[in-house]
Amino acid sequence: MDFDPPESVRPTLAKIESFIAETVIPAEHAIFERGFTASAAELTALRDRVKAAGLWGPQIPKELGGLGLSLVEHGLVSERLGRSPLGHYVFGAQAPDAGNLEVLHKFGTPEQKATYLEPLARGDIRSCFAMTEPENPGSNPTILSTTARKDGDHYVLDGHKWFTTGADGATFAIVMAVTSPDAARHARASMIIVPLATPGFERVRNIKIMGDAGDGWASHAEMRLTNVRVPITNRLGPENAGFLIAQDRLGPGRIHHCMRWIGICERVFDTMCSHLTRRHIDDDGKTLATRQIAQAWVAEARAEINASRLMVLHAAWTIEKKGFEHARDEVSVIKFYVADVMLRLVDRAIQLHGALGITSDTILSHYYVHERGARIYDGPDEVHKMSVAKRILSRYGMTRGPR
Ligand SMILES: Cc1cc2nc3c(=O)[nH]c(=O)nc-3n(C[C@H](O)[C@H](O)[C@H](O)COP(=O)(O)OP(=O)(O)OC[C@H]3O[C@@H](n4cnc5c(N)ncnc54)[C@H](O)[C@@H]3O)c2cc1C
Repeated sequence: MDFDPPESVRPTLAKIESFIAETVIPAEHAIFERGFTASAAELTALRDRVKAAGLWGPQIPKELGGLGLSLVEHGLVSERLGRSPLGHYVFGAQAPDAGNLEVLHKFGTPEQKATYLEPLARGDIRSCFAMTEPENPGSNPTILSTTARKDGDHYVLDGHKWFTTGADGATFAIVMAVTSPDAARHARASMIIVPLATPGFERVRNIKIMGDAGDGWASHAEMRLTNVRVPITNRLGPENAGFLIAQDRLGPGRIHHCMRWIGICERVFDTMCSHLTRRHIDDDGKTLATRQIAQAWVAEARAEINASRLMVLHAAWTIEKKGFEHARDEVSVIKFYVADVMLRLVDRAIQLHGALGITSDTILSHYYVHERGARIYDGPDEVHKMSVAKRILSRYGMTRGPR
């Protein structure tokens, strides 16, 4: 077993690390203060520098102008990018575009690829993914009210979506809609590409997340579809294959998120340790770093981050070598474990910073607000715990039993 990053990706990792530390992190504060849309020129300039350095699109296939890294390699990159909330965006690896790009690449028709995939891969346009609905449980997404009925060579969509990340300013959405209401639950829905400019497709609002509505890519929208007509050729993959395609993006998507969270952990860990060694808490020159509670939190965080990294890379390796089917338990376990490690660390780092921790003078409050969702999206903790436990216990002979 070799714990070093693969030789082939080491120079890339080193370049990304310095670009994030020297260029992206120093630009963060001003961009957040100004807002995402108002910072378009700065963000484009950063992206241009990434492209010029030959680092654009670590996970984007080579034929589309990216680096074409494997899942494990991209996991390592994702950790480095995760050290800044802007990292993935600046390098063209941000959700939900990364997932949309993956499914368009795999299931798109030549026409869909030319119209949507290629400009998306170049970073010329953004996209969003509209599955979750306010009226239905996102944790059980086979229950959907949005419909797409056929009318000649068009679909007509009606429905209500929310938490559509990055809809503000996106060019198109991939919408999950019921196309065969009477079919089995997993075979009812299709993914349909809907340009946001289509009449009847309305962005109602950017939803406030703990008081912050955000804007542009850094926002989550409520959307309404009323009599929205798109050609049937806008369907992605076969009819009623929406959930099959969705499954396809889940494994890699969770690896990307978890490695990004580890990047966040490392940033927060650095911030916390630097503060502990500087903050005097007595007039005898002693710093917070001399206190046992702080030391225990430092040691616990180190252990948990290291464990998380090994678990996520092992899950990525299993997907890569054996396929997602063999990594189901690992992927569920990392999803709830790493989110919990990250959020506990963010909370403890804030606690150790005192009042400073809840200001915007450090990165901590940003993470506290914008990463709390980690335990909810891509499957809430409880659902992952339940499904992994059921799979394990079934190997010990658990039967379903009476309801
Ligand atoms: C930051 C963020 C970004 C998002 N981006 C997108 C996006 O781009 N596109 C999109 O379509 N959606 C997006 N979502 C929505 C996300 O997918 C859903 O929030 C998620 O699937 C949970 O669904 P829900 O919110 O409807 O919660 P519900 O399904 O109502 O569940 C609520 C809670 O009930 C509990 N629970 C649910 N089921 C069970 C169970 N079986 N056993 C025990 N407890 C259970 C859990 O604690 C869960 O958190 C995003 C969400 C967030 C927070």
